[in-house]
Amino acid sequence: MRIYEDPYLLQQQARAWRQAGEEIGLVPTMGALHAGHESLVTRARRENARVIISIFVNPLQFGPNEDFARYPRPFDQDTQRLTALNVDALFHPAVDQLFPPSFKSAVDPGPLADLLEGHSRPGHFRGVLTAVLKLCELALPKRAYFGQKDIQQLLLVRQLVRDFAVPVHVVACPTVREADGLALSSRNVYLTAEQRRHAPVIFSALRVAEEAFRTGERDPERLEQLARDRMAPTPALIVDYVACFDEIGLQRPSRATAGNILGTAVKLGSTRLIDNVVLGAESD
Ligand code: AMP
Repeated sequence: MRIYEDPYLLQQQARAWRQAGEEIGLVPTMGALHAGHESLVTRARRENARVIISIFVNPLQFGPNEDFARYPRPFDQDTQRLTALNVDALFHPAVDQLFPPSFKSAVDPGPLADLLEGHSRPGHFRGVLTAVLKLCELALPKRAYFGQKDIQQLLLVRQLVRDFAVPVHVVACPTVREADGLALSSRNVYLTAEQRRHAPVIFSALRVAEEAFRTGERDPERLEQLARDRMAPTPALIVDYVACFDEIGLQRPSRATAGNILGTAVKLGSTRLIDNVVLGAESD
């Protein structure tokens, strides 16, 4: 595996691969890799001649009071995992290599970026999409891999690709979970042992609502309430939102239908965790 820090050297390599007819799969990450990231890489490995993974803790997507400075950066551990996964290139630029002081542009993600996550994290998706667009320009992927766990990010990346005719196919990958249901996240390391014991309640709350949907409940507010009720007895969980929404406009439907999302954001101490399920999905 070759490690690139210089964006233009990566782009040169990507161009050479594409000119040789080799398709590239790109997996953008912020590092602190876990089995969720690995599932994206494994899928990319299966579907492309070349795999590029980026590890970049993107300052543009963090708010001033968020965890940019303390976000985990176990780089050596990450490179070992990636070597084992047979990745071709790891792109690991410094902040001022990707966003030098001369960098002035940004992607305006439009109104969907103000809802849900964007409501609590103003500017977050602007930062995400700006980085994703630049990564696509550098890595020239045929396919880019994103996790369903960050559903709003996935939908906004699809919007970006559509709006700007970015020649990349966005591949959505299912959420990988711990045995007790907690969605894997690089932020789970922040949890104290006690918070970690409470954390699986988040997914079980979504499951309660999902089960109610399966057995006929179609009122989206009722589904949201069921999930909230399941979390209420655990005061450590401070619910930011529970929302039933459609995949297009991120609006609450008048009646829930299969394919709608039930998503939540919850704070456990200072750690903010998100999760979601697709209503009526075969399995999750
Ligand atoms: P991050 O490093 O948190 O920015 O995540 C990089 C990519 O991995 C994003 O597309 C995430 O949606 C995806 N991802 C993060 N956690 C999981 C998970 N538990 N299962 C599947 N994909 C995930």
